[in-house]
Amino acid sequence: MGLEPEVINELRRAVGREHVITSSNDLRIFERDASIEGATPDAVVLPANTAEVSAVIKIAAKHRIPVVPRGAGTGLSGGAVTIRGGIALQVTRMRRILEIDPVAQTALVEPGVVNQELSLAAAAHKLFYAPDPSSQKACTIGGNAAETSVRRERCAQSRRSRCGSYAYRPASPRCWQPFRRSRRRARQCPRSSGAESFQRPSR
Ligand SMILES: Cc1cc2nc3c(=O)[nH]c(=O)nc-3n(C[C@H](O)[C@H](O)[C@H](O)COP(=O)(O)OP(=O)(O)OC[C@H]3O[C@@H](n4cnc5c(N)ncnc54)[C@H](O)[C@@H]3O)c2cc1C
Repeated sequence: MGLEPEVINELRRAVGREHVITSSNDLRIFERDASIEGATPDAVVLPANTAEVSAVIKIAAKHRIPVVPRGAGTGLSGGAVTIRGGIALQVTRMRRILEIDPVAQTALVEPGVVNQELSLAAAAHKLFYAPDPSSQKACTIGGNAAETSVRRERCAQSRRSRCGSYAYRPASPRCWQPFRRSRRRARQCPRSSGAESFQRPSR
């Protein structure tokens, strides 16, 4: 059915014309995640910061339009699929690592930061990002938090690391994530290494 032109104009004013996708060909790219579900959104909106996320949510609420946040679309549960149409809120433009605190072992990041980028940045402090799903080269911190993603074999450790230090607000474009210390991982993930040279420890 698509969104009313008035709504599209409001969204364009909020995030910039080029950051609202409505062409049917382009929308197809956002139909699916890695599950078997599929549905085309009416629009894909790419906010650049918290204020723009807030503006988009207000417009959607005013017009009663569903909003589904979307990271890299690697989810296996269909969570990023807009099954009722509406807006896919794509956070790709929000990918800054704002702060890494090696003492508290926390990071302040925007939700579109790719998992592996955070691990590589943390390696400089001999830390790594513990949840570490196998899709780490593509998936985002926002998606990790929403899906409580972990590598299966590290599940217990990741759960423990979430206790106390973990807090996440889905509506917020920022989230805190816990780190684990690992000299072995840090050695294998040196600061200078590129994404392709990131090595997993052998088991
Ligand atoms: C090859 C492969 C390997 C995988 N390996 C693992 C694994 O080892 N362990 C594991 O747990 N999972 C794994 N997964 C599943 C998937 O990669 C993870 O769930 C990942 O965390 C999803 O991140 P994403 O950025 O792709 O999120 P998306 O698929 O884009 O979204 C997933 C969910 O998060 C929500 N979401 C996304 N961003 C935000 C946000 N900013 N705010 C609020 N909600 C948001 C979406 O609405 C959706 O409900 C794998 C998938 C693939 C394809």
